[in-house]
Amino acid sequence: MTAEENKNATNGEENKPLNFIHTIVEDDIRTQKFGGRVHTRFPPEPNGYLHIGHAKSICLNFGTAAKYNGMCNLRFDDTNPTKEETEYVDSIKEDVHWLGFDWEGREFYASDYFDALYEFAVKLIKKSKAYVCDLTQEEMGTYRGTVTQPGKDSPFRTRSVEENLQLFEQMRNGAFHDGARVLRAKIDMGHNNMLMRDPILYRILHTDHHRTGDKWCIYPMYDFAHGQSDSIEGITHSICTLEFEVHRPLYEWFIKELEIYAPQQIEFSRLNLTYTVMSKRKLLSLVKEGIVNGWDDPRMPTICGLRRRGYTPESIRNFAEKIGIARRDQLIDVSLLEFCVREDLNKRSIRVMGVFNPLKVTITNYPEGQEELLEALNNPEDESMGTRKVPFGRELYIEQEDFMEEPPKKFFRLAPGAEVRLRYAYFMKCNEVVKDSNGKVIELKCTIDPASKGGNSPDGRKVKGTIHWVSAKHAIQAQARLYDRLFIKEDPEDAGEECDFKVNLNPESLIEQVCYIEPYLKDIKPMEKLQFERVGYFCVDNDSVPGKLVFNRTVTLKDSWAKISGKNE
Ligand code: ATP
Ligand code: MG
Repeated sequence: MTAEENKNATNGEENKPLNFIHTIVEDDIRTQKFGGRVHTRFPPEPNGYLHIGHAKSICLNFGTAAKYNGMCNLRFDDTNPTKEETEYVDSIKEDVHWLGFDWEGREFYASDYFDALYEFAVKLIKKSKAYVCDLTQEEMGTYRGTVTQPGKDSPFRTRSVEENLQLFEQMRNGAFHDGARVLRAKIDMGHNNMLMRDPILYRILHTDHHRTGDKWCIYPMYDFAHGQSDSIEGITHSICTLEFEVHRPLYEWFIKELEIYAPQQIEFSRLNLTYTVMSKRKLLSLVKEGIVNGWDDPRMPTICGLRRRGYTPESIRNFAEKIGIARRDQLIDVSLLEFCVREDLNKRSIRVMGVFNPLKVTITNYPEGQEELLEALNNPEDESMGTRKVPFGRELYIEQEDFMEEPPKKFFRLAPGAEVRLRYAYFMKCNEVVKDSNGKVIELKCTIDPASKGGNSPDGRKVKGTIHWVSAKHAIQAQARLYDRLFIKEDPEDAGEECDFKVNLNPESLIEQVCYIEPYLKDIKPMEKLQFERVGYFCVDNDSVPGKLVFNRTVTLKDSWAKISGKNE
């Protein structure tokens, strides 16, 4: 297959314009810049769980490789042993797979290249392009200058190649304590780009590494590892987020001085979401301080949190597709993400009935002890999903909010004397309201029209409202976790004087309550998804067991995105 044919094969179904990265990739294929190859990588640092922002990068890197018949590596940029853990590595692999992507065995680690990186450092020293510096961190800060003022050369900049080689080897052999010395590149202390002012390449850290154990007590800086790792792997397009644009001259300097293969770095803008914090450091603090119940708390924007909340891989991939790729700062309304999951769950979930705030109804003309099974559609929009039986009896629960004693004009649900349709059952009329001593409505006495079985009008008379219900005798009790956004402010960082995003936490981000559901659901398994009619999309939580079911609300049915996007049209 030629590259042109690949393009047609993968692009055929959609005539969307190419994003700017794909335009570059197609140009490179045409001009044979990398011999027509496309090889990308997703390079997480294993210092936390992946979030929805990472999902954007995963979809872009793996998606680009797939589109152009290329390859995508999974590479862990694990240069900081103090923050990295195997737990994170495992979760990252699980999440990438769950999103639907596979690295086909190309699982690499920057730490795989520690020997090579050490040799690269030695090569720079030999070319007199790197030196060991004994300045303290503080002194180094002063010598560095500012954005408006050039820096000053370190007094150790003129060390001989031999001395540098010897000191660097001693650093490696553990002769010095943490922070005593560093290896720095010799570039230009007057450079406009502060990152080019003799950046640190290696630091001393007597800390075990999650993969190399105690083999090393010096570790390369991220900047000295990232570009060279891409080079070693033969990456063609090193796709990264915009903040790395200023690092690009440094990465290119390393590649040129080391005389090694040069990937093409391309930057795109990060995803930011309203009502969401995305930085791993902040997410970690929510976990550590017990504000959420772990990384996979359904309120977290982590992939595992979204999974537990009931998001599907398809909905996340579709979201990544919809937001597109650009170089402008990207703040996306979280309701678009909610729209994407709703759209996907609408197709795939069964619709069942559950009552969350029960009001008892007694059907006075339905004989005591009698019961029957009524047929219900599993998804009225897709008959191929079949039907199920729902038990009906003399006592029912309906939602409190579906009844009003003194209804306003357009209230089409139940009121004294009014008639509604009970979904899949009967027309039902309210005849009497029972109250407790405080005047609170505790029961309704109603009658059904037996001729309206199935909810069909017997004589052409119409009812405007259709409400859901469960049979009190047959319903099973389950726990519902009603999740909402974790923050009340669109920009959680906007915390005024307090400067702490936690002041913006939503105190009602989780409401736990009991619900009464159809017995059909009694054996439902964790992660299964469904819609409780008129209430929302839910998924069965990992904590759920038969007899003690737990349902997480994924999203309500209310689509605020349609409203917002409609308004803008
Ligand atoms: P954070 O700032 O959340 O800690 P990070 O950039 O430090 O994220 P990495 O593990 O280094 O996290 O990220 C792996 C890859 O995912 C990088 O290529 C990074 O650019 C990309 N990435 C991280 N956050 C986002 C985001 N919000 N949108 C798009 N891509 C992102
Ligand atoms: Mg990072």
